[in-house]
Amino acid sequence: MNDILRLARPEIRALVPAATHSHDDSARIRLHANENPWPDEDDDAPVALNRYCDGQPRALVQALAAHYGSAADGILVTRGSDEAIDLLVRAFCRAGADRILVCPPCFGMYRFSAEVQGAGVVTVPLAADFRLDAEALIRSWTPAVKVVFLCSPNNPTGNTFGADAVERVLAALDGRAIVAIDEAYVEFSQGRGFLGALARHPGLVILRTLSKAHGLASSRCGVAIAAPGLIELLGRIMPPYALPGPTVVAALAALDPQRLARTRARIRALVDERERLRAALAAVDGVLRIWPSEANFLLVEFGDAAGALAAAANRGLLLRDFSRQPGLTGCLRITVGSREENDRLLAALGPP
Ligand code: PMP
Repeated sequence: MNDILRLARPEIRALVPAATHSHDDSARIRLHANENPWPDEDDDAPVALNRYCDGQPRALVQALAAHYGSAADGILVTRGSDEAIDLLVRAFCRAGADRILVCPPCFGMYRFSAEVQGAGVVTVPLAADFRLDAEALIRSWTPAVKVVFLCSPNNPTGNTFGADAVERVLAALDGRAIVAIDEAYVEFSQGRGFLGALARHPGLVILRTLSKAHGLASSRCGVAIAAPGLIELLGRIMPPYALPGPTVVAALAALDPQRLARTRARIRALVDERERLRAALAAVDGVLRIWPSEANFLLVEFGDAAGALAAAANRGLLLRDFSRQPGLTGCLRITVGSREENDRLLAALGPP
C-alpha cells in the first residue's frame, strides 16, 4: 500500500465501494438499475435524464486528464472542489482525534468540512503581506494533523505562495500528511501552479475547478488530481452516481478546444479589467490599500468598510465583507465583474 494511505481512517481503507452500474456497455438493455425506461419528452436533450450517470464518466475523466496533463487514474471528478475538500477531510480525519491545518485568512470551506466531520483545526496565520510561513507551518505539524490545506492564489487575499515555501512544506511533510493545494484561481495568475510537483510528492493533492475561469459555477464540477491510490481512496467515499448528467455535458463542452480558446481570451479580458478596476479604485476617496491579486477579485482596505459596503448595496451591488476577520480589518473582497458592473461599483463608491 502507498505509504501515505496509512494516514487514512482505517474504516475507509477497509470500506467496500458502493455498487454502481456503469454505462460502459451502452448497447445492452439496462434492467439492472431500477431506472425509468422513458427518457425526457425532449428527444434532443443532450443527456438521458432517466438514466443514472456513471460515477466517473470516462470521457470526462479523459478530457480533464488531457487538459491538466495528468494520467486518467490520477483524476477524480467531484461536485465542485468543495466536495473534494470534504472528501479529503472525511477520508483522513477521525472525528474527535485528527486535525486539519489551515493558514488564515483563507477559504472557509476547509474549516467548515472539518467542523462537520468533528476534526480539529490547527491555524498557522499567513505572515506579512500574506506570505506562507513555511517554518511556522512545519513547526505546528503534529501526527494528529492529517491534511494541510494551502490555497494559491489564496482566497480572499489574492496572492500566490512562493514555490520555495511550498516546496519546503511539501518536503517536510512527505509521508506525514496530505498537502492539498487549492488552485481554484490559478488560471488568472502568472504562475503555473503546482501540478508539476505531483510526481515528487505522493501525498500532494491539487484541487482545480471549472467554476471560476471556465465559468461553470452552477454546474458544480471540481477536480482532485493526485497519485492513483489516493484518487481511488477518495472515490470510494463519493456517493454512487454523484455527478449529474448535465454537469458532465457542460464540463465536456467547456473542455472543447474552441471553448478553451474563448476561455483563454476571457481570462485575458478579466485580468485586464481587474487591473483597470485596481487603478480606478486607487483613486477613490477612502480606499487605503489594494492588495496585489492573481485571482478574479481584489482585496481592498477601506477607511470606512461599512460605509463602502452600504454605498455599494444602495446601488444594488454585493461585496464580500471581511472587515471583522483577523488580519483583514477594513477589508472588502470585490469580485471583478464585467466592465459595466465595475463602472457601477466605481460610481457607487465615488463622489455623490
Ligand atoms: N476553493 C476556493 C479557494 C474557492 O474560493 C472556492 C469557491 N469560492 C472553491 C474552492 C470552491 O469552488 P467549487 O466548489 O465551485 O469548485
